[in-house]
Amino acid sequence: MTAIQSVAVFCGSNFGYSPLYKKAAQDLGAELVRLKIALVYGGTTKGLMGVIADTVLGLGGQVTGIITQKLYEKGQFHAHLTHHMVCPNMRERKAKMSELSDAFIALPGGFGTFEELLEAATLTQLGEHSKACGVLNIAGFYEPLRLLMDKAIQEGFMKPQMRDTVLFEQDSALLLKALSSWQAPTVDKWIDAPVP
Ligand code: AMP
Repeated sequence: MTAIQSVAVFCGSNFGYSPLYKKAAQDLGAELVRLKIALVYGGTTKGLMGVIADTVLGLGGQVTGIITQKLYEKGQFHAHLTHHMVCPNMRERKAKMSELSDAFIALPGGFGTFEELLEAATLTQLGEHSKACGVLNIAGFYEPLRLLMDKAIQEGFMKPQMRDTVLFEQDSALLLKALSSWQAPTVDKWIDAPVP
């Protein structure tokens, strides 16, 4: 059982059309505060990112925002966070978010969210860190990712043992529980070549 003290949350810089997404960001924020887990995120006021930061701050929790210089200059930073860092670019920002977090959660989002989640899972697969990753599968948002992972397993691009590199849950409390009992895969990622 890993004691998770901080979680990096990746999520949309938009709100999404369904009110369920905003509610999920609020629920996750509240659960983090209840469990005394600090939030690490992209440091902006935009979309679901702003919602989760405001929820955690409003309930007295800790929030570290890590934003890029460009977005900071555009005035998109959240001015009331517990800690704030400005990084020269997205790559350094992701590295810093990862360094400061014990686990990763993605809420619904777009390219930025997908990229951050899949990089975190890739680093687990390669054994460069052993931090749990999970998605909040709100209204089935991440079902296409689950199907894509199944396809990659079926087609010999991923070992089935790697499936839990990304955990899927619909509820924040259940996801945080699953992340804290997660064990890193004990196999390496490569599959033997088929006999010709
Ligand atoms: P997206 O899902 O494409 O909206 O991108 C959201 C993800 O990319 C977040 O988890 C952030 O880390 C990063 N990101 C995108 N837009 C911003 C922004 N305006 N400020 C800070 N980070 C952002």
